[in-house]
Amino acid sequence: MSKIPKAFVTGYPIHQSRSPQIHSYWLDFYRISGSYDPVEITGEHFPFFIHSLKERGFSGGNVTLPYKEQAYALAEKCDEVASHIGAVNTLWFENGILHGGNTDAYGFACNLDDFAPGWEKDTALVIGAGGASRAVLFALKERGYQKIILINRTRGRADYLAQHFGRQIVVANWQSINNYIGEAELIVNTTSLGMKNHIHDQDENQQPVINFAAAKPDVVVTDLVYTPLMTPFLKQAQKTGLKTVDGIGMLLHQATLGFEHWFGIKPQVTKALRSQILTGMGEKEI
Ligand code: NAP
Repeated sequence: MSKIPKAFVTGYPIHQSRSPQIHSYWLDFYRISGSYDPVEITGEHFPFFIHSLKERGFSGGNVTLPYKEQAYALAEKCDEVASHIGAVNTLWFENGILHGGNTDAYGFACNLDDFAPGWEKDTALVIGAGGASRAVLFALKERGYQKIILINRTRGRADYLAQHFGRQIVVANWQSINNYIGEAELIVNTTSLGMKNHIHDQDENQQPVINFAAAKPDVVVTDLVYTPLMTPFLKQAQKTGLKTVDGIGMLLHQATLGFEHWFGIKPQVTKALRSQILTGMGEKEI
């Protein structure tokens, strides 16, 4: 009898993760006998957990905050994206070897392919220089962006990414954000500003006041934050009549690659899946 494949998502904390609902949906939809469960691991136990995946019978799984960099160090082999980004969010076994990949850049690009076809242009403005920003920079370079203006509250982190990602990245000061709005064909928020329960979210003044009125009329504005779905950033852009793309599609698309590794089928991101996940979040389609 063949083994029933099982996968996990780990992080700390892990209760907020939407991944179990996404993978359970596909397991049901494709009638696959398999499992995908959250496993909460505290810091000192993470390496032990990763080393014991085979004994525990896992085919692989997802890794989220704060362990993506550690997972990169612990994987025996990493794909090109993970190696470039320095973080792993997906683990799987191939010929007994633990592989690590990063599927965020793929998820980001697929979400824009779905909701803003033709988004691949020349100049982008990226706000934020944390882990998620790296995936966005990778995707933008892959899709041919020639100039990526990068702005972060802590300028040193943006400077570091510019050195790492090369000549397309131009760093600008946080305070000068509005000087660059008119140049961009794509504007991306990769900071956690606007996220529900984010420590700074209580104070509306923490949100950068962006002069979207100065933007090109056909600019695409997107936010990686998806709780709430309509973030203050997207609301500001929409009020000005600009095209916006929310962040949930990135989460759904990035999950497809892991599912394929563990369960052998590349699942589809459908309206029905999106709607089920939004309902679970207490959100409505926008
Ligand atoms: P991270 O590595 O902790 O980076 C956080 C970023 O937010 C940094 O650029 C940080 O700037 C900035 N930031 C935080 N608080 C701020 C404030 N009060 N004012 C200005 N900037 C602030 O986090 P991450 O992994 O990049 O994730 C960022 C967001 O993307 C999270 O909300 C996460 O949920 C979301 N995300 C979504 C997806 C998806 O599938 N849609 C995937 C990945 C991440 P400093 O450097 O100055 O601290």
